[in-house]
Amino acid sequence: MPSSSSSAPSAARPPLPKAELHLHIEGTLEPELAFALAARNGVTLPYATEDELRRAYSFSDLQSFLDLYYALMAVLRTEDDFADLAHAYLARAKEQGVRHAEIFFDPQAHTARGVPLGTVIGGLSRALDAAQETYGITTRLIMCFLRDESAASALETFEAARPYLDRITAVGLDSAEVGHPPSKFREVYALAREAGLKCVAHAGEEGPPAYVWEALDVLGVDRIDHGVRALEDERLVARLVADRIPLTVCPLSNVRLRVIDDLAAHPLPAMLDAGLLVTVNSDDPAYFGGYAHDNFTAVRDALGLDDAALRTLARNSFEASFLDEATRAAYLAEVDAYQGEADAH
Ligand SMILES: [Zn+2]
Repeated sequence: MPSSSSSAPSAARPPLPKAELHLHIEGTLEPELAFALAARNGVTLPYATEDELRRAYSFSDLQSFLDLYYALMAVLRTEDDFADLAHAYLARAKEQGVRHAEIFFDPQAHTARGVPLGTVIGGLSRALDAAQETYGITTRLIMCFLRDESAASALETFEAARPYLDRITAVGLDSAEVGHPPSKFREVYALAREAGLKCVAHAGEEGPPAYVWEALDVLGVDRIDHGVRALEDERLVARLVADRIPLTVCPLSNVRLRVIDDLAAHPLPAMLDAGLLVTVNSDDPAYFGGYAHDNFTAVRDALGLDDAALRTLARNSFEASFLDEATRAAYLAEVDAYQGEADAH
């Protein structure tokens, strides 16, 4: 199970310091918390027990996961719920050696259910504001648009978020990729850039390399989320390398959603060899079988990555972050000074 004792690093040997850059806060909703919040809010889940719910976590593709993901969100109703969700993630992230987290949230998934945007951002911010003191983790918040909703809905969401933009570092694009190319969201990304926000987008997970090109050239993104299919296009790889565009890869997610058949066949080593600024992240860890360090451990074991490669991935995570230069340098120094055995159990 995610962050179980089998993979949770011991206190005696702290895990490699890392940043997590591809993490959907709604995807950290563990069955225990889902049932607790359901009881608190009088919501009836379509599963009788936590075990029954866990058994539903067997997905055939991105859409089958999204169906369950959105159904479970019904338990998130109040500011306290969002704060509790973020606290639960941060506590786990700390155990996993996460020193900095850039956290996605999906406002439309909540406003569509009648939960005000202020409730979502208020609850998340309450937890994030305490993150450095409580968990030793710096944080940023990234507001994602649901790409299977309309461009008009994204624009409406962005306008509704204007009073909260001081809490938001970047905008992103997620949910069902195929059939919803980045160019659909050209206008809202232009507004976000105008407002001084950074831009990221999921592209090249299930969608073709053309979607990665569009994210770069039409949306002007600073970072690509996933991007594993970029390898199918040599020119695109050259562009990503030349511009040092980071890719936030999520290995356990790729296996669980059948983007990759087998972790041993994951293109991560090929991406590193190509000189891409690739990072390892957990995506929706409650659903995909592991948090940040669990992903590091899984790729180490399945792909035979050595200590130097893991250290490169950790360095990349800070290089690819939206941190200020002084904080980034401090974290990179932590990676360089790391004495733990990154390749030991
Ligand atoms: Zn994602």
